[in-house]
Amino acid sequence: MVRSLKLFTIAGIEISVHYTWLFIFILIAYTLAVGYFPMRVRGLGKSLYLMMSVLSAFLLFASVLFHELSHSLMAKKEKLKVDKIVLFLFGGVAQISEEPKSAKDEFKIAVVGPISSFFLALVFWFLWYFVISSSGSEVFGAIFEYLALINFMLGAFNLLPGFPLDGGRILRAYFWNKTKDLAKATSIASTAGKGLGMFLILLGAFQVITGYFIGGLWMIFIGLFLRQAAESSYQRVLIMDVLSGMKVKELMSSNVVCVSPDLPISDLVDEFFFKHRFSSFPVCQKDKFLGIVTLHSVKEIPKEKWREKTVSSAVKEVSEEFILDPEDDAVNALKKIIQSDLGRLPVLKDKKVVGILTRKDIMNLLRIKTDLGRR
Ligand SMILES: [Zn+2]
Repeated sequence: MVRSLKLFTIAGIEISVHYTWLFIFILIAYTLAVGYFPMRVRGLGKSLYLMMSVLSAFLLFASVLFHELSHSLMAKKEKLKVDKIVLFLFGGVAQISEEPKSAKDEFKIAVVGPISSFFLALVFWFLWYFVISSSGSEVFGAIFEYLALINFMLGAFNLLPGFPLDGGRILRAYFWNKTKDLAKATSIASTAGKGLGMFLILLGAFQVITGYFIGGLWMIFIGLFLRQAAESSYQRVLIMDVLSGMKVKELMSSNVVCVSPDLPISDLVDEFFFKHRFSSFPVCQKDKFLGIVTLHSVKEIPKEKWREKTVSSAVKEVSEEFILDPEDDAVNALKKIIQSDLGRLPVLKDKKVVGILTRKDIMNLLRIKTDLGRR
């Protein structure tokens, strides 16, 4: 789904970079080489500026990784599952697959990020101070100065109180602790995130108008990204909140119609897809579940062969881990639906199909609950 390149593993956490990072890396190195460093240190050769810039871009990359790693290690310490870290366009994302269990955990996991960036800023500032007060190497002095500055900015930016930035998470932890209601706290923090995003977009637009074209565009991009991230992370928490405590049997469609693998595809289309208007059917032979046939898998077979071919040639097997039980937890079931790429999973009891659960069932429930003004 996400196009990223795996680099290495630290403390059991897979580190990878999103392909956009290559673009960012080049952009950062370029702006440093032609703009920043020639302005800070005058009179050096072009290739030296380039080397300084590439080294700085690498150290910036390592700094962002250090920041994300601090979140992940703290999350691991609080017994949350951390899958991997993906570094991408505007920094990185530590993919912590679970929500923190308490406001205190949330606060701890969020706050270590800015702290680690400020710590790095301090380290680079000391290095810069040490270099200029001893050897006087302008080249390393400028590199360390840049990294001190950029890490300070990274820490400060992440402290802005808009979810899902670290500052927004701290804000969420505060309201979570106060109201004891995670969904409500998330709503407040992500509204702040969207507001902050809007502010950055306006600020960026103002910069573009007044002539700071590149900087302004960056600001607009970051604003758009933040708005979108605030919205989608709020949706996720809302879904989890609505689903928590529910079981698969409360959500599934139980009027399932099984089709036989020996049925010709043409009959499947005429008598099942058209009549029942479902987009998929479980395939069963004498109560034994064989897999799922979907509209999509039928479309892959040329129309002229629909009379001779049978359902068995279009059936998609469903691996054991994706078969649901009526008593399964609804949140886990949704995760499985997303992982499986099928958009729907069969529900089996005593090896018999008793229902089917689709992503649509879950979204409908969510819409109804939010329409009814649950909050
Ligand atoms: Zn962070």
